[in-house]
Amino acid sequence: MPQEQNYWLTTVHMPTPPAQPLPETADVAVIGAGFTGLSAALTLAKRGAKVVVVESETIGWGASSRNGGMVLTGLKLGVNQLISKYGRDLTRRMYAASLETIDTVARLVKDESIACDFARTGHLEVACKQSHFDDYSRQAEVIAREFNHQLRVVPRNDLAGEIGSAIYYGGMVDEISVGLNPARYVAGLAAAAMRSSAQIAEQTKLESIERAANNGAPGFRLTTSRGTLWARNVLVGTSGYTGAATPALRKKIIPIGSYIITTEVLPEALARELSPRNRQIYDSKNYLYYYRLTPDNRMLFGGRAAFFPETAQTIRRSAEILRLGMIDVYPQLRNTKVEFVWGGTLDFCFDIMPHAGQSDGVYFALGYAGHGVAMATWQGQKMAEWIADGKTDNPFAEISFPGAPLGLYNGKPWFLPFAGAYYKVLDWIS
Ligand SMILES: Cc1cc2nc3c(=O)[nH]c(=O)nc-3n(C[C@H](O)[C@H](O)[C@H](O)COP(=O)(O)OP(=O)(O)OC[C@H]3O[C@@H](n4cnc5c(N)ncnc54)[C@H](O)[C@@H]3O)c2cc1C
Repeated sequence: MPQEQNYWLTTVHMPTPPAQPLPETADVAVIGAGFTGLSAALTLAKRGAKVVVVESETIGWGASSRNGGMVLTGLKLGVNQLISKYGRDLTRRMYAASLETIDTVARLVKDESIACDFARTGHLEVACKQSHFDDYSRQAEVIAREFNHQLRVVPRNDLAGEIGSAIYYGGMVDEISVGLNPARYVAGLAAAAMRSSAQIAEQTKLESIERAANNGAPGFRLTTSRGTLWARNVLVGTSGYTGAATPALRKKIIPIGSYIITTEVLPEALARELSPRNRQIYDSKNYLYYYRLTPDNRMLFGGRAAFFPETAQTIRRSAEILRLGMIDVYPQLRNTKVEFVWGGTLDFCFDIMPHAGQSDGVYFALGYAGHGVAMATWQGQKMAEWIADGKTDNPFAEISFPGAPLGLYNGKPWFLPFAGAYYKVLDWIS
């Protein structure tokens, strides 16, 4: 049996914030010490704001240390769907933002000297059906025409140069995507935020937020497990772990489990055979697999093996489901040992779009739908600029943020088994 442990965490020492009492006041309270919260805290602290990051667990405890480390361009929805829903102009701005997210990460890694194995590997999407492959040319053509961004379609005959698997109908490459070690990246962001004088309060759970003035200044009183704090502004960056303290947001987020295994270290020749260009790879299904080599040449293979957020039981079950999935893709790994398995929670909104805005005066950014390494970093910065400047050009703040159809959701995702079955059927028939 593999160890039930996040492999990335074996490669990093998370910084430990100095033991300090929770301050009585702050300019900005940021909830959640993941990419969103830490990137916002860093930006605000650099502008001289007094920032406190309130984190119920420890730095990077959420999805930010648990993910595949794929820093990806694009959004979850296809470009044609985006254009028909939001029109050309807004879609152009959203797509441009998705490209800018990669530069944002690159700049932060460089400026803050974050040692996180940042590598411009590009990503490869692989088609599980001929119809999916046929759609790639159409998508690449629209993206080139509308957004001036080049993707390369790889026919089945040429796919061996990209991936050592014979099961796909072709692929599509975006050269500007990146691979990194997410735990080292989130640790580096936290260290940078603290160097800039942001305070990170670990083991401090936000329990409620209410509007309250302080010496005549409007703001918010936050009740936490370690006392109260008054802040002029609040930013919520709790992603798939959004809970009862922010009930209006919780109702709009569907927490979905995602699971990852990593193998033992592979011989160099085998690693090159599986992924000759070391791409960040994912397939074209709704119920998809995503995979890549780690910097030390393990195969990291992830997917939604169970739809529910992680528990000891779903993690254990996922190990074998994912191993079988990995062998379907790569029969070469039939006898390779799986050493680690872990899970984390994704945040899906009902329209599968990222959202940013204000709810009752409280700022938020979430809904990354498994595409959050780059987007959460970018949103953190954009939200910080919005708070500091009082205005924003964030296109994701301009789209409507739908709740559940008919309001049939209180934050407990009772429909996940049905959604899981629905997506499996959809993959089968589409
Ligand atoms: C298994 C897995 C694989 C993924 N793979 C990829 C990938 O390869 N590429 C990609 O782009 N994206 C991927 N993602 C998504 C990506 O990791 C997330 O979108 C991103 O990390 C979200 O960052 P965040 O800071 O918004 O939230 P998180 O990192 O989840 O942080 C939220 C934090 O809020 C804290 N919190 C919650 N409630 C409270 C409270 N009441 N009080 C105080 N603190 C609170 C939590 O403890 C948590 O630490 C993956 C996600 C998972 C789970």
